[in-house]
Amino acid sequence: MTTFGTEAHPLRVAIIGSGPSGFYAAENLYKQLDVAVEIDMFERLPTPYGLVRGGVAPDHPKIKSVTRVYDRIVRQANMRFFGNVEYGTDLTHDDLVRHYHIIIYAVGAQSDRKLGIPGEDLPGSHSATEFVAWYNAHPDYSHLTFDLSQESVAVIGVGNVAMDVARVLLRDPSVLHQTDIADYALEALATSRVKRVYVLGRRGVAQAAFTNAEITELGELCQADIIVSPEDVVLDPLSKAYLESGADKTAAQNVQTLTAYSLRQGTGKERQLFMRFLVSPVELIGTDRVEAIRLVKNQLYETYDGALRARATGQYETIPVGLVFRSVGYRGVPLPGVPFHEKWGIIPNDEGRILTVQDGGQQVVGEYVVGWIKRGPSGVIGTNKPDAAKTVASILDDLANDRTLNPPEPERSAVEALLERRRLKYVTFGDWQKLDQLERDLGAQVGRPRVKLSQVEDMLDALEELSPAMPVGD
Ligand code: NAP
Repeated sequence: MTTFGTEAHPLRVAIIGSGPSGFYAAENLYKQLDVAVEIDMFERLPTPYGLVRGGVAPDHPKIKSVTRVYDRIVRQANMRFFGNVEYGTDLTHDDLVRHYHIIIYAVGAQSDRKLGIPGEDLPGSHSATEFVAWYNAHPDYSHLTFDLSQESVAVIGVGNVAMDVARVLLRDPSVLHQTDIADYALEALATSRVKRVYVLGRRGVAQAAFTNAEITELGELCQADIIVSPEDVVLDPLSKAYLESGADKTAAQNVQTLTAYSLRQGTGKERQLFMRFLVSPVELIGTDRVEAIRLVKNQLYETYDGALRARATGQYETIPVGLVFRSVGYRGVPLPGVPFHEKWGIIPNDEGRILTVQDGGQQVVGEYVVGWIKRGPSGVIGTNKPDAAKTVASILDDLANDRTLNPPEPERSAVEALLERRRLKYVTFGDWQKLDQLERDLGAQVGRPRVKLSQVEDMLDALEELSPAMPVGD
């Protein structure tokens, strides 16, 4: 019989990670449970919001405004935030099991997929995820440098991240100045010599992964002409039939947009964006650094399940480029003490219930996943809402059947005591709000919406200065 869920003995829930999926899990939980619940959210950075802060492009402020919803969730759910606490080192799996009935992992996909081609690790070849995190002032990436003295750049992949990277590379610096892009990135991009960006899709125009708003935006850049070859927008019979089926409105719009671009005459802008399709990189060429990219022309074929895949034709070309961004998808990383599916790069689960990898996939009682680490790196921010709702439905179902952990120390204060015993400088939500205000104030001084702090030490020092009695607790 459940003996918790009362005001005196609330259901204690830990959420690991503070990106959209973690917040939507919290929202769903407190809205749906008719038992008393206490949620603690742990985040390894001092700042919340995951990819909304560290991934969404700086020139997309509307998308970022979703954080107001998350702030409301913190208030309404009466949730505690423990920033600067890393799962696996500061806080272990055993710790969570000692203190919580339910654990939800919302850690996203923190690494990137590899191409597996020669030259991939040459200097000048970077993952798009690194570049994105760098220009967004993520503390793990703020020390990186990118050689923007190169005139030609290749971006591999045609998803929305590739669109972001191409756009940021080609944007007018005065437009970037109006955003919260990292100050060092703003400076580097202002003196960039990048003139040509080649965005490379391995399949055809009808199979591009970007959404229409993103490709439309690329056609509106004031400093760059977008160039699409008329040959690339001629559809093969399989793609034509796919579009005519009406099953994919985004693909149809994308083809329309790209066709319109193929008819444009260049306007002589100082930069060019080449959108290329049906080409795969086979090698990055260079001795000390990337000097060129070798591509093979592809054609499409239909697999047994009706999918259209790319196959090499044996026709090659080489494009001189000095910088390459591999934008072929994010990948999850394993967490200590938690099952992991190596091939898929996710935590194996059934509707959010974590399953063991061996012995036929048994449920790990009391442990759940949401977001990219649950389903892989797909969808937009809003996709995480129904995704979290499904996991919470599994939690509610398990609760009704008494399937939770049974923590020996469920008291709310025990967690703070543990963190303080370990002398961890954790950051509360109140602390984050002070940092948030500080960043806005720094921005106001230079006519920008925000200047982000990009070092954990700077954030902790700032908090010390703002409230000398800090940094432990509120
Ligand atoms: P994505 O949408 O999955 O796109 C990955 C791209 O890489 C695809 O074009 C894919 O081609 C290509 N690719 C994969 N392996 C490749 C290989 N070996 N060689 C060449 N190309 C390869 O991933 P993403 O761009 O990283 O975005 C992740 C998610 O975040 C997406 O759901 C995206 O919509 C979302 N996002 C949204 C926004 C926004 O709303 N503005 C911004 C950024 C990201 P195939 O299709 O042939 O596999």
